[in-house]
Amino acid sequence: LPNHTAVVSHIAVDIGGTLAKLVYFSREPHSAEPGGRLNFISFETDRIDECIEFMRNLKRKHQRLNGGGSNGRASPPGSDLCVMATGGGAYKYYDKIRDVLGVDVIREDEMECLIIGLDFFITEIPREVFTYSEANPMHFVEPSENPYPYLLVNIGSGVSFLKVSGPREYQRVGGTSLGGGTLWGLLGLLTGARTFDEMLELASKGDNSKVDMLVGDIYGTDYSKIGLKSTTIASSFGKIARMKRLAEREAEDSGGLRHRDLHHPHFEKSDNEQLLDSQHHQPDRSRPYSAADISVALLYAISNNIGQIAFLQSQIHNLNHIYFGGSFIRGHPQTMNTLSYAIKFWSKGAKQAYFLRHEGYLGAVGAFLKRQP
Ligand code: ADP
Repeated sequence: LPNHTAVVSHIAVDIGGTLAKLVYFSREPHSAEPGGRLNFISFETDRIDECIEFMRNLKRKHQRLNGGGSNGRASPPGSDLCVMATGGGAYKYYDKIRDVLGVDVIREDEMECLIIGLDFFITEIPREVFTYSEANPMHFVEPSENPYPYLLVNIGSGVSFLKVSGPREYQRVGGTSLGGGTLWGLLGLLTGARTFDEMLELASKGDNSKVDMLVGDIYGTDYSKIGLKSTTIASSFGKIARMKRLAEREAEDSGGLRHRDLHHPHFEKSDNEQLLDSQHHQPDRSRPYSAADISVALLYAISNNIGQIAFLQSQIHNLNHIYFGGSFIRGHPQTMNTLSYAIKFWSKGAKQAYFLRHEGYLGAVGAFLKRQP
């Protein structure tokens, strides 16, 4: 929250399938400086009421300070709080926001907001856009006057690929439903972890080779002739089925069980409990992999897939600069490393992946900037 004296004049909200992202401008009323600050906060869309309540508090603050309070001046003309909204929720919750806030809400197109927000970050904000490598995880690039054409890959609940040819000139060229919502949903089912950050934390401790079938598992070595290292993932989660079949065969050999009675010892009743235990790193005798291993394997599967599609889209449309946005990334090193590596690997170093410090707020910033003066 801005401190109690800050003046809030302008709010923008981007309400997506999973998160509602809020951006607002505040400044100190008696400050001699002309500028102020942009504030960023997000809420789960399922708790949209909390988000609207937060906006209502901002509005109260705005009214109090514009209504001739501390400095004794009357409210200047045209000082109404401006609320911009984008994303699907700008439609779904339109009436609710208007009723609760009692102000006009201006709706803006989601894709347009995304690229306006991204353009602003790329062209104007220093220390915002960066490239990732393990040696240098945050190598900032200077603002660029003419970044076009480029590809924007926005990884939210789902994924959109946008070709951007100039300011406000764009086309949605593709998408995939295997996105952030997929990771969040499946890891919720598989690991018992509840928050997204808990899942990322788990992933950072996992070893994907426990569940993924690697080139080395198949060849016993690397397959250098076609450029595959022994650690390259041949099949995400491909080891699990093999382990399960082996265990079934063992059970058959040791006699007596009819096929329909066969249960893999790893998948007995307390399956979920076992995973929850393994999350807390308690030894698990019957299962050779942990919730952490599953988390990193799924994170790799989703990110590799998106990286591969991003590369193909960039080939089709002849684009060398690829910007990754959306809250899925969340500054997580494993995610950025996978995406970055995919682009570098497939393009043989010709194309570059870029990330943003405020990756989740492109749409909200775009809506914020669309306010008519
Ligand atoms: P949308 O606009 O579709 O809501 P976002 O860009 O906000 O998309 O990204 C949502 C995705 O971000 C989720 O599916 C999840 O992968 C990830 N994520 C990051 N932080 C959180 C969080 N606190 N809660 C839920 N998901 C989160």
